[in-house]
Amino acid sequence: MREENEASGSTATAVAEESGKIRVSGYAAPAVKAPLGSFTFERRAPGPHDVLIDILFCGVCHSDIHQARDEWGGSIFPMVPGHEIVGKVAEVGNQVRKWKAGDTVGVGCFVDSDRECEACKAGEEQYCESGMTPTYNGYERDGKTPTYGGYSTRITVDENYVLRIPEGIPLDGAAPLLCAGITTYSPLRHFGVKAGDKVAVVGLGGLGHMGVKLANAMGAKVTVLSHSPGKRQDALRLGAEDFIATNDPTVFEKNAERFDFILDTISARHDYGAYLGLLRRDGTMVLVGAPEEPSPLAAMPLLTKRRRLAGSAIGGIRETQEMLDFCAKHGIASDVEVIPIQKINEAYERTVRSDVKYRFVIDIESLRS
Ligand code: NAP
Ligand code: ZN
Repeated sequence: MREENEASGSTATAVAEESGKIRVSGYAAPAVKAPLGSFTFERRAPGPHDVLIDILFCGVCHSDIHQARDEWGGSIFPMVPGHEIVGKVAEVGNQVRKWKAGDTVGVGCFVDSDRECEACKAGEEQYCESGMTPTYNGYERDGKTPTYGGYSTRITVDENYVLRIPEGIPLDGAAPLLCAGITTYSPLRHFGVKAGDKVAVVGLGGLGHMGVKLANAMGAKVTVLSHSPGKRQDALRLGAEDFIATNDPTVFEKNAERFDFILDTISARHDYGAYLGLLRRDGTMVLVGAPEEPSPLAAMPLLTKRRRLAGSAIGGIRETQEMLDFCAKHGIASDVEVIPIQKINEAYERTVRSDVKYRFVIDIESLRS
């Protein structure tokens, strides 16, 4: 990479050390289920097509917790989580035309993909046929260099995997849009949710609260289903017109066949069949929550009303930019609790207890001081 920079005359080496690498301060999970702590590591100096970003804020997604605790299997340690990244461009490689120093940018859940499969060509890099390169807990395209995420001071990313943060969105509230925002926006769009549709958002956490805001801005009539009865007022404030506390089991019968579309964001195992019964004929339920454990599914709730059950993963670069622009236009940002990195282990515990309003966001300045 060093040679490449020198050969290309990139200015990016200004911040690189002798080795051609950039030293970065971060926080990592050293091993499965171990508390996160300080971790210093190296990133590549920007090549001709790379952007070096000084990270300002990074959201704390429940997926960070699933992966740091190896709940999905295959986790790689040490792990620097974080895929809801907002920062300023520090330097660009000499072939980069899209970005310049000082631009406010974001990075989401992936930093590369094969760029040639049907999914990539369709702008759906998240479904890359040879596998997207996750922002952390994965390997670069070389198959051996580990990727490290946004709980860190700087990141080097290919210019094509960087998003523009439009003016007007507060930067701390913008960070969660890079995952929670696009993960809820994409299925709402893909499955054609439109004005007047009756939409249920299940689980009012990081994803759920974005789902409420986005579906509401699309003109849907939104109801929140939650196992935390205390979230009623917040649900209404966020844009829902109704709230159903699911700790009362009779609600499933009372609200049978009520909704056109259900967005299920629950992070823990639950009975999908109970929620499917809330869909009207030809209704669709989309799973975006990714619990550790599988849940059995009976055919009957699906076939009786020709209901559909689908899943959806984040969104491609083009759609993520569309979502960011949509948020700017509609004055949407995430409701955040900003924390210093030193509070990250506590934040994980609180997130698992569904006690966050509604996304923790790390102020990366706390890694610099
Ligand atoms: P979160 O902030 O922790 O929200 C999850 C919500 O689920 C909680 O706030 C809670 O809502 C509900 N919940 C939690 N435990 C529950 C239980 N035992 N029973 C019923 N409801 C429960 O998490 P998040 O960051 O929004 O992520 C949600 C899930 O989506 C995670 O599994 C995450 O890994 C996954 N995810 C998927 C994608 C994707 O691409 N598909 C992207 C990002 C995240 P109430 O208090 O309102 O009940
Ligand atoms: Zn996420």
